Amino acid sequence: MRCPYCNNQDDKVVDSRACRDGQAIRRRRECVGCNQRFTTYEYIEHAPLTVIKRDGTREPFDRPKLQKKIELACYKTSVSTDDMEELMDQVEADLGNRAVKEVHSHHIGEVVMERLKTLNDVAYVRFASVYRQFKDRQDFVRELEQLAN
Ligand SMILES: [Zn+2]
Repeated sequence: MRCPYCNNQDDKVVDSRACRDGQAIRRRRECVGCNQRFTTYEYIEHAPLTVIKRDGTREPFDRPKLQKKIELACYKTSVSTDDMEELMDQVEADLGNRAVKEVHSHHIGEVVMERLKTLNDVAYVRFASVYRQFKDRQDFVRELEQLAN
């Protein structure tokens, strides 16, 4: 790291600690040339998330598109707009924390379903029917029976 005081290229790290809830590392550095101290921060680079679809094609993660699907599932249920916003944030946090920046669409579906299940049964089953591609009424009945247990 180039020293901001004398442009020297050499420095040593004198202190290093986690900050911002563990999302960053703060390093105190001391210039070998002039002994001035300065601070650097290190973050994880959040690369854009790529979704691998069922047919194997890839597309960038599309938050508005997923939000639309969740809104449809929650239509006329007790799930509030705030609940949906929070759900989206949780899903994004879950996906953002992954080291691998490619995720299968069914994994996103599972994450949403897991959260929706705690919010509203109807919204959950509606969403599950799209993601798991229910073929007939039997699939619905099976899902509902599992919910009841
Ligand atoms: Zn210096």
